[in-house]
Amino acid sequence: MLDRLQELKDEALNKVKEATNLKDLKELRIAYLGKKGPIQEVMKGMGKLSKEERPKVGQVANDVREAVTALIEEKEQKLEEEALSAKLKEESVDVTLPGRPISKGSRHPLTTVVETIEDVFIGMGFTVAEGPEVETDYYNFESLNLPKHHPARDMQDTFFITNDLLLRTQTSPVQTRTMEKHEGKGPVKIICPGKVYRRDEDDATHSHQFMQIEGLVIDENIRMSDLKGIFEQFVKRYFGEGREIRLRPSYFPFTEPSAELDVSCAICGGEGCRTCKQTGWIEVLGSGMVHPNVLRMSGFDPEKYTGFAFGMGVERFAMLKYGVDDIRHFYTNDTRFLSQFKRV
Ligand SMILES: [Zn+2]
Repeated sequence: MLDRLQELKDEALNKVKEATNLKDLKELRIAYLGKKGPIQEVMKGMGKLSKEERPKVGQVANDVREAVTALIEEKEQKLEEEALSAKLKEESVDVTLPGRPISKGSRHPLTTVVETIEDVFIGMGFTVAEGPEVETDYYNFESLNLPKHHPARDMQDTFFITNDLLLRTQTSPVQTRTMEKHEGKGPVKIICPGKVYRRDEDDATHSHQFMQIEGLVIDENIRMSDLKGIFEQFVKRYFGEGREIRLRPSYFPFTEPSAELDVSCAICGGEGCRTCKQTGWIEVLGSGMVHPNVLRMSGFDPEKYTGFAFGMGVERFAMLKYGVDDIRHFYTNDTRFLSQFKRV
């Protein structure tokens, strides 16, 4: 019996020494020290021993149990420490590693152009006005001297929502809304930037959604020369010194007389190139003296007040400024395009 105990002790201690993880140790503890383990098994046979032998065997059996328990605990602690240090090593932060670059967003080029143009006009005493993108037929057309069935309505293919509601085709309805608020009293001096919509097929120069900036000045004694003076200042501030301007007669239903504003081509200096279609001039906006009907419909007396209005395409200004050749780049959200407009 003593030999058997010695044998079990050697066997258990060897196995504990060889154990490589906590799970194995747990299994060994149950196998050797549990109630159904071999040591317990041996001790059950003690009843058959003589009175002299019994305490001796009991003592040895206890020694074996204690030795095995002690070794298991020792090993357990060691394995736990190893696991902890391995985990710490794995999770340690290498403070010498360079940081991952954070990808910064950039301001949309159209926003930049709108803000730049706003700044120029605010500097000349204009205020910024806004209006709804879903408009009524009255504000978008009728109040601007475009009654129903007027042929010039065809110039602007419209998204109608109902017979009377539509997506505004121009920022001009903001003019009417502002004039109404003034209740027939000048001066009015506003610009209105915003999105507009037309049923155009999208291509390099057309988009079904684009942006306009509308301008309106109404006061007593406003003349065509005032309009020219404002344009001279604006072109100088936006495009830079040394650019010539010219006004070319045109037609718009809401202005009379009407004029297109051309700016001399910066690329060829007026000699003629592809950008200016060999003319030396680039068309930038439409304008004119506010039609007396428009003044009258919005509550202003055309005998007392005169004014001028202009409208420009924001995309066109952005394309000219940054040399972009396709309007769709502004709306496809390709970060390779947008990231080129990062501010330093
Ligand atoms: Zn040119």
